[in-house]
Amino acid sequence: MTNREYTVFGPAGNSEMFYNAGYKKSADMPAFLKNVGLDWYEYPCGRGVNVGEATASSIGYNARKNGIKMSVHAPYFINFANPEEEKRINSKNYLESALNLAKVMGAERVVFHPGTCKKMDRGYAMGILLDYMKTLIPEIDNAGLGDITICPETMGKKNQLGNLKEILEICQLDERIIPTIDFGHLHARRRGSLNTEDDFARVLDAIEDSIGTYRARNIHIHFSQIEYGPSGEIRHLTFEDKKFGPYFENLVRQLVRRKMTAVVISESSGTMIRDALAMKKMYQNLL
Ligand SMILES: [Zn+2]
Repeated sequence: MTNREYTVFGPAGNSEMFYNAGYKKSADMPAFLKNVGLDWYEYPCGRGVNVGEATASSIGYNARKNGIKMSVHAPYFINFANPEEEKRINSKNYLESALNLAKVMGAERVVFHPGTCKKMDRGYAMGILLDYMKTLIPEIDNAGLGDITICPETMGKKNQLGNLKEILEICQLDERIIPTIDFGHLHARRRGSLNTEDDFARVLDAIEDSIGTYRARNIHIHFSQIEYGPSGEIRHLTFEDKKFGPYFENLVRQLVRRKMTAVVISESSGTMIRDALAMKKMYQNLL
């Protein structure tokens, strides 16, 4: 699945640094990222897959030319725990549209938010979600999209499905599924649970215990500092924040010690490139 030797870094979407340099088009991102020294570009489709095929293939072409790997973030509207079948089918179509885009771009991974429990009991909602996703995986294979890795994400608000345990349960449906561990979300949903290197190590141990060393080393990571309140996530911050955390300093040594070949995506607010570079520098200083 991968032949990476090291953990790699990149931004989610086009950050301030890119626009301030005078660029506008996503097709210019891969060369920009290569020039600043990053490895990966996560293309955001949270509000829907609204990119034409010509644009998608030119982004993909430039990514290959510049040695930049890619992932796509699927639309936020996905909810595989919706009790209405019609809405679950709509969710499947959103995921498939992201997978099709990934195919055109040559992206390796598609990140998605699996669902929400609304007023249902969590276990009941997870039951709906898991049953539906079981039927979805062979459909993805039949559509010729099974070579793209789907990466369900840990979520920041308590009413969203996607605590660590729930995401690992989804990953147990198929050995090709890789979790997106959004450490900011995990920290926010428990109002600040990741404060030391040991706190991060416990999360990484739980992942390895559940899905094995290979996948645990290759996880997709979203990292940003996040403001939180009683129900979890409020908003994404930048690395300037010194109040909420979590702090990458507490994770980076674990990435090196465990010889991880993860993908780390910065989801800072506006400063994704700058903060991805800061993380990459901290990591390289330990190699
Ligand atoms: Zn996300």
